[in-house]
Amino acid sequence: MTLSNPTPARSRSSAYDRPAARFTEDHRLDVRASALGQCRRALWYAATGQAATNPMTDETKLVLEAGQALEPVVVRAMQRRFWTVTPSDPEDPWRVEVEAGAGLVVSGHPDATGAIELFGEERVIEVKTRGPEAFKRSKTLGAERSHPESVAQAACYSVGLYGECRDVVIATLDTGSRRWDYEVIPAARAERAWDAARRRLSTLAEHHEACGPDPAALPERDFTASDWQCQRCPYLNLCQPGEAANEAEEDDQDEAEPVSDDSARAALLDYEQAQSQIKASDQDKRTALKTLQHWLQKKGVDKARLEGSAKTRTVGMVANRRYSVDHKRLNALLDPEQRAEIVTEQVSEYVRVS
Ligand code: SF4
Repeated sequence: MTLSNPTPARSRSSAYDRPAARFTEDHRLDVRASALGQCRRALWYAATGQAATNPMTDETKLVLEAGQALEPVVVRAMQRRFWTVTPSDPEDPWRVEVEAGAGLVVSGHPDATGAIELFGEERVIEVKTRGPEAFKRSKTLGAERSHPESVAQAACYSVGLYGECRDVVIATLDTGSRRWDYEVIPAARAERAWDAARRRLSTLAEHHEACGPDPAALPERDFTASDWQCQRCPYLNLCQPGEAANEAEEDDQDEAEPVSDDSARAALLDYEQAQSQIKASDQDKRTALKTLQHWLQKKGVDKARLEGSAKTRTVGMVANRRYSVDHKRLNALLDPEQRAEIVTEQVSEYVRVS
């Protein structure tokens, strides 16, 4: 199973093209492992064969396909960094099916398995591609907090491939900087993520048991129209047509704020002018400070007095001490709940002109 040389990328099997959920011939609910974190109502729409009212846009498809195409790139990067990795064959991928509870199975196709050369046993490797913000977030918070569904997915594959939940590896590529990194989730924590995902889906299996595969018997919504899950949901107009229309109306109202295009353009020109002034004065400041630094060094002192334009000033070297946290080690050492008390997340909004 071990590859000594990286394999070239090949076309993906149609086995990947399946709904997020479906009913099996023996009347069980079969959920795709990569859809473990999806809204349960959306899974119900998928299982009961509802047509998508909000299909993926071409832009979204492009992002998705670009992510899939980059997965072998991550595998090859791991192979060059002391990992022994066996990728699944994209034309004939391994299929894993796991009993997840009464009337419930979870199935999917693991990306790869492997281990750091000479160390440890083989584990499931789940490969993800993220934009720069999501990559930064996953490195800081850890996969269990930033993308818990990916940990549950890898844990499910581990149970399916090895009959037990081993440590799992989440390998992530930053599609902006093209950096990659990996995180090893210890077996006990991966198992917790899998148990949480199973518990969540078991209510949907119970719903199926109680109602049968009835498209009209809808489970509760897991999200509201303002959540990103709804905004990207293929069933948004089916699930909450009024809410979707309201959101669109609110968006229109937001856009209709009384700032004309001319005012916005004037603001942009002001911004550009202010930026160029700041840049020029920053450059002058840096050059002057560099000269003063060389002057101090030549004198062999850390501080000296010098006559300025209006008063005598002190020119001195200042040591700036910085402290950093190794998030990778922190994430490996502590449970997600403990980390949540230490590393908190704040979101602020600002306007960027680029
Ligand atoms: S629109 Fe939102 S609540 Fe409705 S099915 Fe989709 S994700 Fe769930």
